[in-house]
Amino acid sequence: MIMSTSKKKVLLSGMQPSGALHLGNYEGALRNWVELQNTGKYDMFNCIVDWHALTSGFESTEMLVPRIYEMAADYIAAGLDPDKTAIFVQSHVKEHAELHLLLSMITPIPWLERVPSYKEKVESLGLDSYGFLGYPLLQAADIIVYRADVVPVGKDQLPHLELTREVVRRFHYLYGEVFPEPEALVTKFQVLPGTDGQKMSKSYGNFIALGDSPDIVKTKVMSMFTDPAKIHKTDLGHPADCPVHIYRTIYDSSLPADLADKCSAGDPSVGCVGCKKALLAALVEYFKDFRERRMVLLSDKAQLDEHLKRGAERARERAAETLRLVRSAMRMFKPEI
Ligand code: SF4
Repeated sequence: MIMSTSKKKVLLSGMQPSGALHLGNYEGALRNWVELQNTGKYDMFNCIVDWHALTSGFESTEMLVPRIYEMAADYIAAGLDPDKTAIFVQSHVKEHAELHLLLSMITPIPWLERVPSYKEKVESLGLDSYGFLGYPLLQAADIIVYRADVVPVGKDQLPHLELTREVVRRFHYLYGEVFPEPEALVTKFQVLPGTDGQKMSKSYGNFIALGDSPDIVKTKVMSMFTDPAKIHKTDLGHPADCPVHIYRTIYDSSLPADLADKCSAGDPSVGCVGCKKALLAALVEYFKDFRERRMVLLSDKAQLDEHLKRGAERARERAAETLRLVRSAMRMFKPEI
């Protein structure tokens, strides 16, 4: 069993198993988690938040288990090491649910209604369940059940973390100090556009998944949007707004330094088809080892189960300790009976 090292700061991260992980997830989160893990500075807990996936996907749960396995394989293939990071499934650690319930007693409903993504999704997706309203509070429980010091987040997730901090302060005001107020570890990353130039989204289907085979990557890359103003090679291009070029700046180590200038100047020696072929070769090569590791991991579910079991054991140990502190602070009836 991996022991928590109390001198290190505790870091909590997680993602919903709501579909295949794509390049945007990799750049926006996973790559950073691996780097944070490899600094050795944090006691890392990484949660596959399956209960959260139910808030919008409660009607079609048949893909939940396969997606959990795929996510665990993606994490490990990308470099999260189960010996260094507790990788586990949220629903395997029941303390998340108990703490969520206790926090729900002290959290005013308007605090939840004002979270920006709540209003947005109620309007756009018509979600109005009790579970959906409580989503940010379950997220707060996910974080503080590990008494996490830091949470790596993008700027758009800051309001969620601020709610967690408010709930912590309210708990402390009512019952005394138990949790650290978790700090945001704001990640700076390159936002990748979707293959159609719009915002990348699982629901728009405009992404390249980490697990896509070279043939699928080929189909997606060769139909990618470029600069709509670049119809002929001699047209003046805008590479900074061209998804193919943006991807190449990240994944193509042989990208010629003068390509952007040549594209902008309408130099006929560069063209969109050539750029796409170069991007395809670069992506296939960049994720070659990842794909192989992922396939090996997915071919041995028993081994993945073992990784998730070890992760859940370590998570449960810390979460159970937190719940003992919480019950004691709240003067609950002898919980051991
Ligand atoms: S030539 Fe290359 S960089 Fe320029 S618009 Fe086409 S794909 Fe983008």
